[in-house]
Amino acid sequence: MDKLLTIIVPCFNEQEVLPLFIETITPVRKELIEKHELNTELLFIDDGSGDKTLELLRDFHENDASVRYISFSKNFGKEAAILAGLKNAKGDYAVLMDSDLQHPPALLPQMYSELTNTFSESNPQGSNKPNSEVGLCKYDSVAMYRDDRKKEGFFRRHFSSMFFKLMNKLSKLNMVNGATDFRMMSRPMINAIISMPETNRFSKGIFNWVGFNTKWMPFETGERPAGESKWSFGKLISYSFDAILAFSEVPLKICSWLGIIFCLVSFLIGIVHFIKTLIFGDPVAGFPTLYLMMLLLGGIILLFLGIMGQYLARIYLEIKQRPVYIVKESNDNKST
Ligand code: UDP
Ligand code: MG
Repeated sequence: MDKLLTIIVPCFNEQEVLPLFIETITPVRKELIEKHELNTELLFIDDGSGDKTLELLRDFHENDASVRYISFSKNFGKEAAILAGLKNAKGDYAVLMDSDLQHPPALLPQMYSELTNTFSESNPQGSNKPNSEVGLCKYDSVAMYRDDRKKEGFFRRHFSSMFFKLMNKLSKLNMVNGATDFRMMSRPMINAIISMPETNRFSKGIFNWVGFNTKWMPFETGERPAGESKWSFGKLISYSFDAILAFSEVPLKICSWLGIIFCLVSFLIGIVHFIKTLIFGDPVAGFPTLYLMMLLLGGIILLFLGIMGQYLARIYLEIKQRPVYIVKESNDNKST
């Protein structure tokens, strides 16, 4: 039987680019069924758009039942859209891609070939069965990383590569510089991802954390043909903090270590002063040192209380067990 690939597309105010997206992906879907015997379904996640995105999605579904959609009750963010897509995917495989064509649909056949590539000895020459039916696949996921960082602004490029380096140092993850959410996965990996219960989701970290074999492939992001990017620099910074706090305990460890170091240093200084007083008597000196130390210690204590507060806030949010997203409408359940 033919396999099914679910193409998951999060959309937030994308009315300008969606018709173009459908136009571009239609021939690719045709190629996949004709050359690779791979059926496809499109699953759009409308992340609480305020424009005509939802109306367009309803139209797409009317015209073609293999186009499905899920619409959120408000903007829950791309991470929530990714989770909704993976949970509702019916495919044996799923691919995540942006609606703005910056993740080129033309790469899908190549990604699928890589994903279903088997160890060569198990696929003897001349076999015309799809690789995946002949033997074990080498990979469970094909992930794309951006290879065109020069096109980005100086600041953003450096911030981004610094983020990946810091993240790898601080956590047990091993992320590729330029990693994107453009990724095709097999069913076992999809199931592993949706089984992770956390509500504060950093998908790039989760993909890495669940393991499985991943093939990394470079690609170039094109210009966005229409609409605009939803990510401001401030949003990116707060996303990076979320990612680090979700996957690393190192900031907490730094607090404890610095605390221990300060205790040791103060103990040593105490001994020095004790000896000095015994030898030279007790002139009142070192007043500036005293208040500088107080300021420094006060600052450090506040900083670390802040870091602990950040973790505590996340525990609080996690413990409330709020749903990651709320569905207002889908093609199975139309509200109008
Ligand atoms: N997106 C979303 N929810 C959001 C922000 C973005 O679903 O809150 C979608 C958006 O519609 C697009 C993808 O995520 O399909 C990537 O967004 P964008 O192109 O704005 O990001 P960039 O390419 O600038 O990183
Ligand atoms: Mg984009």
